[in-house]
Amino acid sequence: MFTTDTQTLATLESTFGYRSFRPLQEEIVGAIMRGQDVFVLMPTGGGKSLCYQLPALLQDGVTVVVSPLIALMKDQVDALQALGVAATYINSSLDSAESSRRQAALTRGSVKLVYVAPERLMMPGFLRLLESVPLAGFAIDEAHCISEWGHDFRPEYRELRRLRELFPTVPLAAFTATATVRVQADIKAQLGLERAACFQGSFNRPNLFYDVRDVRPKKRAYDEVAAYVRAHPGASGIIYCASRAGTEKLAGQLRLDGFNAAAYHAGLEPEERRGRQEAFSRDDVRIMVATIAFGMGIDKPDVRFVIHYDLPKSLEGYYQESGRAGRDGEPSDCILFYSYGDVIKQKRFADEKPPAERKVALWQLQQMTNWADSTACRRVALLAYFDEIFAGQDGPCCDICRSPVPEEDTTVPAQMFLSCIKRTGERFGAAYVIQVLRGSRDQRILSQGHDRLSTYGIGKERTEDDWRHLSRELIRCGYVRQDEDAFNALKVTELGRNVLFEGRSVRMVARRKTASALEPEEEHPYPDLFERLRALRKRLADERSLPPYVVFHDGTLKHLAASLPATSEQMLRIPGVGQRKLLDYGEAFLSEIAGYVRETGVQAAPLEPAIPARRPSRGGLSDTMRQTVQLFQSGQSVAAICEARRLRQTTVEEHLAVALEAGEAVEIDRLVSAEKRRAIEAVMDELGDDYLAPVRERLGEEYTYGELKVVRALRRTAVKQG
Ligand SMILES: [Zn+2]
Repeated sequence: MFTTDTQTLATLESTFGYRSFRPLQEEIVGAIMRGQDVFVLMPTGGGKSLCYQLPALLQDGVTVVVSPLIALMKDQVDALQALGVAATYINSSLDSAESSRRQAALTRGSVKLVYVAPERLMMPGFLRLLESVPLAGFAIDEAHCISEWGHDFRPEYRELRRLRELFPTVPLAAFTATATVRVQADIKAQLGLERAACFQGSFNRPNLFYDVRDVRPKKRAYDEVAAYVRAHPGASGIIYCASRAGTEKLAGQLRLDGFNAAAYHAGLEPEERRGRQEAFSRDDVRIMVATIAFGMGIDKPDVRFVIHYDLPKSLEGYYQESGRAGRDGEPSDCILFYSYGDVIKQKRFADEKPPAERKVALWQLQQMTNWADSTACRRVALLAYFDEIFAGQDGPCCDICRSPVPEEDTTVPAQMFLSCIKRTGERFGAAYVIQVLRGSRDQRILSQGHDRLSTYGIGKERTEDDWRHLSRELIRCGYVRQDEDAFNALKVTELGRNVLFEGRSVRMVARRKTASALEPEEEHPYPDLFERLRALRKRLADERSLPPYVVFHDGTLKHLAASLPATSEQMLRIPGVGQRKLLDYGEAFLSEIAGYVRETGVQAAPLEPAIPARRPSRGGLSDTMRQTVQLFQSGQSVAAICEARRLRQTTVEEHLAVALEAGEAVEIDRLVSAEKRRAIEAVMDELGDDYLAPVRERLGEEYTYGELKVVRALRRTAVKQG
């Protein structure tokens, strides 16, 4: 056991004000003092910066701290200077005179700690300066930024690899708050830390409650957020959204509903960003709706909730972002809204990336959805992701623990599975292992001689789906690990070996009825129609220079193809079809479907009553529609509104048509002359009003679609009222 000398303890108390170390700090400080390389995994709030700051004060020479965020550097240095430590930072925020002054101080030896960003550190001029200064060591903070497998890869960190050859005798210490086994290996390899002393703290955050909420349709997410913040009036929290526009929209909605919310994203001016962050720290703003740009710089300890409105890109990122809740150790909520649409969206983003990045992104997404889909304790699964075995805690710790799904003892099949992985040499993926267990006569198995194994065919009585579920659960719970470097070959972990050789029992939740969001949808009845709708979507998207999924998602197309809506009203009941989409694309899709029905003579199946009819309502108007309506109601003409709002006439008329159907007071006479109205009505009486194209064809060019839509809206409200 390493004993800390009295000088170290005295400095700990005199400078930092602590009488004792927190877990691991003492060992890490000791290793650094002995001049060893170290690699430290310590979760947020564990006190990792002290691990390099304290040795820096006690050692000869300068400690160079590499940190990714310029904004945070000033705070860190301010905090150290407030403790009386000779610390400084050199970065692009300083003018050249100030920068030279600080470099001179460095050369004079009057600085113990210098904070720099990686791009500054690796500049030839700065490296030359460091060669002339006695160095105590390098401390690399947020070291996971070096790995593209991490959640926060920064290419400029890559350059740090050269430190080893440039300064072969200077000890190197790498710190990270979150890293998977893969990221750890990557950090060590890249920084040349193979012989480093490694320290790992627990990733468990016992005061956080994890809650995954399935939101379908996504619209429900807003209601849940509003209900949550209403129920916790004093709590401040962060709501993460995937896009800048998303943060603005959600913050706007919340403000309209009377909540004290602000948006935060990288698109804001630096001044504005600082102002809002401060307002949040000061509780002037209660709810910060932010992109993940709002992150590393937050030191607010009493964040009571972190809500992910959109699906995070990786589980590691999720751990880090949700971990901003409850740094003060008080109970706090981490809520994740999980929707199928988000998964599809992210898959699509990933598909657009170059192959190497794509592979990483898809793998990360898979881990994320596995976790969200899991029916086992969230905490256990999250910690398993970091290879940490968690024994469980008193009281429910997540949504699953709160309403448990029945468990079953799966020790025997788990042993079969694990044993089969071992016997096939840990070289194969789940599908192969399952084939061996089920006694497949596949040529690949026979040629490997795996039909002679004792585990061959012992799992015949379980279905393939049962085995697949078991294999996923074993991975989730940390009994088995997937090796991405070896084509997802399965490896048995320490925990798995306990099951195999020490009789540890395995209990897991029964197979869920609902499919994973990433698994293929069930077959729909009219695949050829689906293809036609896809082609139509592509055409419409091309005409508007949009990606097709902006028109409709695949899920919506599948619903359309399966339920064959014949009217706008029916189409509105399809998930993914709102008023706006109906106006823009409804006719085109309805006539395509009508054509298909005519040609093939298929019968439309009744729409499931489970999908509630969405009647347009006052609340259903979008902001832009509402603006148009208000201008119109205040007496402005359509032409004036077009001018003021820079919108096309048809668009303004469409807004008013939707408002009319939603029951808003819209003076129809100001929109369509009585004469035109009569003519339109006559044609609609004859041809029906579900499709406007034939109506317009009959009436001629001087009738706009907007006018037709207004009259149709009027007819429909009249029908509803009559
Ligand atoms: Zn739990």
